[in-house]
Amino acid sequence: MTKALYPGTFDPVTNGHLDIIHRASRLFDQLVVAIAKGTHKHTDFSLRERKRLVAESTKGMKNVDVITLPGLLAEQCKRMSVDVVIRGLRAVSDFEYEMMMALMNRKLYPKFETIFLMPSEQYIYLHSSLVKEIFALGGNVSDLVPKPVFKAFMDKRKGKPKK
Ligand code: ADP
Repeated sequence: MTKALYPGTFDPVTNGHLDIIHRASRLFDQLVVAIAKGTHKHTDFSLRERKRLVAESTKGMKNVDVITLPGLLAEQCKRMSVDVVIRGLRAVSDFEYEMMMALMNRKLYPKFETIFLMPSEQYIYLHSSLVKEIFALGGNVSDLVPKPVFKAFMDKRKGKPKK
């Protein structure tokens, strides 16, 4: 059985992430989306909320699972015996960071391979941070994120407690 891991912060998951999840789930028997704590950056959504939103957004996809990533990605790959990691490449601006991560992960775990997938061109400009900025400024993000995420944004706007 072929298996791949798709790690990221997913703060929150966007239609761009979902595009990559769809593509990867066609290439592998099982795709595990791994939600990182995001120690290197502040997150607007809690780990639990980010996991729930990815799980709800991928509900109909039978070969997609969601986990949280407690520490190093390379260690998680070793633990799960997964050698393939999926990352999305939007533009050349993503490339330097992604190359650094791919090579460092391979140093930590020599079997580690990164596969880069390109989203449909309509998602090339889509970043979680941009979506949050549009929302914070009162804009409509309904075309940019899956339905459960849009609902979470609306709940935030109404000041409803987090699930
Ligand atoms: P990180 O904090 O690790 O950058 P993200 O959650 O922002 O994690 O993204 C996870 C992965 O998904 C990264 O490889 C990122 O490049 C990719 N990604 C994010 N948004 C898009 C998009 N709109 N199209 C394609 N790939 C994307």
